[in-house]
Amino acid sequence: MELNVISRATAALEFVNGVYEASILQMKALPYKLYLKTEHWQHFRIEALKFYQHKCQLCNEKEKQLDVHHRDYKNLGCETFNDVIVLCDPCHKTFHDSLSGCCMSDAEIHGLIDGM
Ligand SMILES: [Zn+2]
Ligand SMILES: [Zn+2]
Repeated sequence: MELNVISRATAALEFVNGVYEASILQMKALPYKLYLKTEHWQHFRIEALKFYQHKCQLCNEKEKQLDVHHRDYKNLGCETFNDVIVLCDPCHKTFHDSLSGCCMSDAEIHGLIDGM
C-alpha cells in the first residue's frame, strides 16, 4: 500500500534538468532522498542559505560545506525558514549522532546527510 503510493507519486513526476517538478502532495509522498532532488527543495535550500547568511547556526562556520537540515518534516513541500536550520558538515553529523535512538532510522539519517 505504502509502496504503491510512493511509486505512483514518483512515476507522476517530471524529471527536468536533473530535478523533479512535483506538487506539494507528490512531495509529501516522496522518499526523503527523492524529495531532496525536487526543484522546490533546490530553490528553497538556496533561499534558506541566504536567509541564514551562509553560516552554520551552531558554530558560525562559513568555509565548510553547509547543509540545510529539517527541524520539522511536517511542512515538507511548503517549508518556512523556521522549519530548517543551516549547519556545517561536522555540526550536522554531530547533531544526527545525538539523535540516534530517536524516531529516525540510520538509513533516514544517512539519507539526510548524503542528500544535503
Ligand atoms: Zn539533518
Ligand atoms: Zn557548525
